[in-house]
Amino acid sequence: MSTPIKVHNPATGELLKEVKVHSNEEIKQALEKGHLAFKKWSKVNAHTRSKLLKDWSRIIQKHKEEIAKVMTLENGKPLKESIGEVDYATSYIDWYAEEATRIYGRTIPASSESKRIIVSRQPIGLVAAITPWNFPAAMMTRKAAPALAAGCTFIIKPAEETPLTTMRLIKLAHEVGIPQDAIQYVNGNGPEVGSLFTDSEHVRKITFTGSTPVGKTLIRNSADSIKHVTMELGGHAPLIVAEDADLDVAVTQTILSKFRNAGQTCVCANRVLVNENIMDAFTEKLTKAVKALTVGNGLDSATDIGPIINEKGYRKIVGQVKDAIDKGAEVLAGNEYDANEEQGYYFVHPTILKNVDERMTIMEEETFGPVLPIVSFKEITEAVDIANNTPYGLAAYFFTNDYKVGTYLYEHLNFGIIGWNDGAPSGAHVPFGGMKESGIGREGGSEGIDPYLETKYLSIGNY
Ligand code: ADP
Repeated sequence: MSTPIKVHNPATGELLKEVKVHSNEEIKQALEKGHLAFKKWSKVNAHTRSKLLKDWSRIIQKHKEEIAKVMTLENGKPLKESIGEVDYATSYIDWYAEEATRIYGRTIPASSESKRIIVSRQPIGLVAAITPWNFPAAMMTRKAAPALAAGCTFIIKPAEETPLTTMRLIKLAHEVGIPQDAIQYVNGNGPEVGSLFTDSEHVRKITFTGSTPVGKTLIRNSADSIKHVTMELGGHAPLIVAEDADLDVAVTQTILSKFRNAGQTCVCANRVLVNENIMDAFTEKLTKAVKALTVGNGLDSATDIGPIINEKGYRKIVGQVKDAIDKGAEVLAGNEYDANEEQGYYFVHPTILKNVDERMTIMEEETFGPVLPIVSFKEITEAVDIANNTPYGLAAYFFTNDYKVGTYLYEHLNFGIIGWNDGAPSGAHVPFGGMKESGIGREGGSEGIDPYLETKYLSIGNY
């Protein structure tokens, strides 16, 4: 028997639960079951699948407070954010419950009178998902909901840090009547389960949210059996504040983008580029607002910023801040820590760094923490060059009320998600995903169900 996964509360270090790790044999059996279940689930009519998804959403909403509490306990995010995440998670189920009944085909005019051509869409098969710890509910539903809606069966390995929310959601799916084998979870170590998924002949698609290096491994390992892949990988979002920007809007939205989930999201603003003429006015307002944020246990209603998920994440953040200060960055707020290695909790106070430049690691690497580096620019073209100077291409934000500057930025920024005067552009109804090394494919919107469907076309001759 493998050692169970120990799930800790990152705000206190307290052990919450020990979760059973599935053996390789059990995982293989689960894959086999998921494959067999596909034969039945794919034949359930779309209206029934839609209704079951709606029931799943409803029962999750009924248990919203309880699920949110589990999420805050295992992830650390403030309870108000966990409640928001449950809503966000069910919005994907609601959206794809609707999309289930709109998987249309088409007819194509044939090149001969004696032929007819029909194009239809069919589910691709068993989908295996691997998810991260930062959004334990939503990262799963934005994959599971379109998969089930399309008629695919689904198996997930949640992050070792936060398996409890996912397990609870899947239990609720079974309670409303989604077949046991149509949606399953397995727990285990990332690389091992990842290899079992990619090696399995039963899995037709891998969908992953996590770091770019792991995404590359999964793509490589999926090549042998040509599995479909959807990859939501790392980001390094620039946020540009143009000279004419409404500074109050820019400050509020920057805080929304940067400090949600203690800065531990892949779309968090990671580099703030500010026109030099408004630098002082912007940083003054921003610093005041950031200093008003409260750091603490997510269960405390006053908390805006919870703990960092683990020591590895904490060390990375502290290292980036130190590197920036050593190379000349000025601290406007934060650079304060409340960490206890023995107990196992790590808090980083919201930090603003000024005079940041491209020699600093923070300008290259994703931070995944509440640290906001500010870079100054003169011309908007220079801001675009700095913004695009990254292998990542997930989200970018800009603030301007000048439509010419705005359209220039929209057209020249190489990112999949753009927020114009908007620091929180995500939603179930829009296509979320990145360019370059930030990923392949989109989740959400009408685009989000396509990756779970194959196109099949029929040519009828001799008509
Ligand atoms: P982070 O460093 O933020 O945890 P990862 O990309 O390492 O990001 O983890 C995201 C998810 O990927 C987790 O569920 C983790 O268990 C899983 N994982 C980690 N390494 C691998 C791997 N080699 N193959 C498949 N999954 C992995």
